[in-house]
Amino acid sequence: MNYNRKEILSYIIYGFILVLIFVFFIWCGQIDSIKKFLIKTESNLFDIRQSIVSGYKKPDTDIVILDVDDATYEYIMNKYGSWPISRDVWADVINNVSKVNAKYIIFDMLFLKPNLLNRKGDEKFADAVKKHKNVYISMSFDNYSEKIRKPPTIQDSVKLNVQQGDLEDNEFITYTNARVVMDELSKVTDNIGVINVTRDEDGIIRNITPIFKYKNDYYPHLSLLPALKMLNKDSVSIVNNNIVIDKNHIIPLDLNGSAIVNWYGKRGTYNHISLWETLDAIESNNKRFLNDNFANKIVYVGTSTTSLSDVKSTPLEKNLAGVEIHANFLNNILDNNFIKKISPLFDLLITTILSMFVGYCILKMHSVIKTFIFFILILITYSIISCILMAKYNIWVSLTIPYIAVIVTFITVYCEKYLLKAKDYEHTYKLAVTDGLTQLYNHRYFQEQMINFTDEFNKTGRIFSLVLIDIDFFKKFNDTYGHQSGDIVLKEVAETLKRNSRATDIVSRYGGEEMTIILPGATKEVAEMVANKLCEAVRNTEVILVNGDKVKVTISLGVATAGLNGNQAQEIISYSDKCLYKAKEQGRNQVVSEI
Ligand code: GH3
Ligand code: MG
Ligand code: MG
Repeated sequence: MNYNRKEILSYIIYGFILVLIFVFFIWCGQIDSIKKFLIKTESNLFDIRQSIVSGYKKPDTDIVILDVDDATYEYIMNKYGSWPISRDVWADVINNVSKVNAKYIIFDMLFLKPNLLNRKGDEKFADAVKKHKNVYISMSFDNYSEKIRKPPTIQDSVKLNVQQGDLEDNEFITYTNARVVMDELSKVTDNIGVINVTRDEDGIIRNITPIFKYKNDYYPHLSLLPALKMLNKDSVSIVNNNIVIDKNHIIPLDLNGSAIVNWYGKRGTYNHISLWETLDAIESNNKRFLNDNFANKIVYVGTSTTSLSDVKSTPLEKNLAGVEIHANFLNNILDNNFIKKISPLFDLLITTILSMFVGYCILKMHSVIKTFIFFILILITYSIISCILMAKYNIWVSLTIPYIAVIVTFITVYCEKYLLKAKDYEHTYKLAVTDGLTQLYNHRYFQEQMINFTDEFNKTGRIFSLVLIDIDFFKKFNDTYGHQSGDIVLKEVAETLKRNSRATDIVSRYGGEEMTIILPGATKEVAEMVANKLCEAVRNTEVILVNGDKVKVTISLGVATAGLNGNQAQEIISYSDKCLYKAKEQGRNQVVSEI
């Protein structure tokens, strides 16, 4: 491949910018508020992706929710006149739902204290739980002070058997206190799981902790227990930050030891069956209702009402019942489809490749519109790829950092390209208006400026003067010393004129050995003064020729002033030309301003 110097330079500058961007990112990562912003944005982009890909996921239709909804509250209050629901009622539910062969009955409810007013009800409930080994109940962990609650000892049989590996303690995993089930229940069942959930900083639940630590022992999440049962396992291993149930069921853990849930959908993803309808069916012995809704089902029992305050925000749903979150978790374990975040190193690699690619393409592309469309297409394509990765492979690649990097790359590379272009343009423009030999402005530029100045003079009255200059006996000079020496003299005279005029004066080569100076703002008197100064300066300048000879030349000058000697460019030029002619006639080496 052939690269010119400019291209190589632009790649070097771009590479440098890229390094700066990365340093900037790493620096940003140290600042808490920026870090929080990046995490929040990434989480929101995760939520958006989840809502897109959830349409392609099929929730387990065997999972149903036995819902203690608002209507149930009304029903119970009307029927029994008290709340919460009496334990005998739950005993009836277990017995009748089990009768139609429900696979599991999982209570996302805490049965903590015995009901002293209805001991019989508690006993009946405990009997039902004892009889049906497919019933699961909940406990929860917290960090309450010992002054509030003496940390309970939990029976060994409830602990999770972790065969291999260990989890590091952190606030998501490790707790110092617990709310356990009443003795009546703990005596008859080991099927007790933890129902703690932890929210992200924005209050949304994205992760669930599968295994908890309490007093250096491990305890399973409520949904992990039936999952193990279904997979015929009674232990797990922790390998490389994964909870391994068997080779087809691995729960990848995030840095805090929680699993990123793949959300199946909004409220109602799993069929909700109202508890009151179920109670009504039990009372009226409506076997068909029970059979239709619960036969061979995994029944999660919980509440979906805000009034009973067990609704939470998840990526797809602002108000999702806690019980549905646990159901979703079980579904994830069985389908082995938890979300895996790719490693930060890989994220960085993708970001680097993306921004290098974008930078390279911008440098190569010519059309602004095409470049912009290309840039948008890159963003869209990467977003689509990230959705596909999430939908097909459950992989979460970062979008925030690559988006920012690509946008910053786009802006910086584009600015760089624009600057190089502007420099190019400047160079071309200079070539177009400059005389190659003398480096003065050329004839065309002079004519343009004359028109501009006369236009402005006619509009605003802003005066200017023109000095026309011709080297004396130049033909003879050329003949004597040669054309090359003539060129040196031309350059030297041009240099002298420039040196002795202001930056705002426009010194041009009119043609041959004739030069002009436009003096903005100069009256006739000022122009005469300047012309005399120039005449003297040239007269006193020694020119050293190629052969080492030192020579001097003189010039003749004609002066014309806008307004006094004409209102049009050609009139003014012609007047100064006539003055010049007169100066030649009068013996050269002088200034003439009147004809
Ligand atoms: P006068 O004092 O009347 O001006 O006499 P002159 O010899 O200078 O006469 P004129 O202005 O007509 O001469 C122009 C000469 O300038 C003709 C040409 O040989 C010379 N000349 C024009 N352009 C160039 C150039 O680019 N390089 C050199 N070396 N000579 C040039
Ligand atoms: Mg001439
Ligand atoms: Mg001449």
